[in-house]
Amino acid sequence: TTNIRVAVVGDGGVGKSTLAIRFIQNEFIEEYDPTIEDIYSKEIDWNDSKIKFLVFDSAPQDEFYSYRYYSLRNQEVFLLVYSVTQKNTLNMIRDLYDRITDYVSDQNKDPFFILVGNKIDLFTKRQVPTHQAKAFADELDFGFIEISAKTGQNVNQLFFQIANAFCNR
Ligand code: GDP
Ligand code: MG
Repeated sequence: TTNIRVAVVGDGGVGKSTLAIRFIQNEFIEEYDPTIEDIYSKEIDWNDSKIKFLVFDSAPQDEFYSYRYYSLRNQEVFLLVYSVTQKNTLNMIRDLYDRITDYVSDQNKDPFFILVGNKIDLFTKRQVPTHQAKAFADELDFGFIEISAKTGQNVNQLFFQIANAFCNR
C-alpha cells in the first residue's frame, strides 16, 4: 500500500470539508460542525496494488496556523480549492500557495498542487470561467479540475489525477 497525504486548503466556505467527506464516504452531508478539523482516510485499488489517501481537512479559524500544527511539511499533495461562484476565493490562492511553498521550501520535498474549482453544480452563479482558472493553473504548473462536492461530479477523477501524478513522478 502506498500512502498519499493530501491537504485540502482554500478560503472558508469553498467546500473543503464537503469535498473530503464526499470522497471518503461518498455522500453529501448538509449539516455538520464546520469547526471540526479532521483527517480522513480511504483506500482504493490502483493497478495491481493499493493506494491509501490520508486527507487532511483544515478548520476555518486561522487556517495557516493549524496547517503548521498538522505538519504541513509532510503533505505530499495540496488541493488548492476555490469556488467557481466566488472570484475572490480564486484570487487568494496565489497568496496561499506562496505561503505554503515558503513554509516547505527548506525541506527536500516537492509537493504536487492541484487547483480545484468547486460548486460547478451552481452554474447560474458561476463567476470564474474555466479557461481563466486553467490559464492560472498552467502558469504555476498546477494540476486543474472542476468538481461538485455536492453532486460528486469529478470527485473520483480528482483522486485518480492525484494517484496518477504521484505514481508517475
Ligand atoms: P469549507 O469551509 O471550505 O470546509 O466549506 P464547507 O465544506 O463547509 O462548505 C460550505 C458550504 O458550501 C456548505 O453549505 C456546503 O453544503 C456548500 N457546498 C460545498 N460544496 C458544494 C458544491 O459542490 N455545491 C454546492 N451547491 N454547495 C456546496
Ligand atoms: Mg471546513
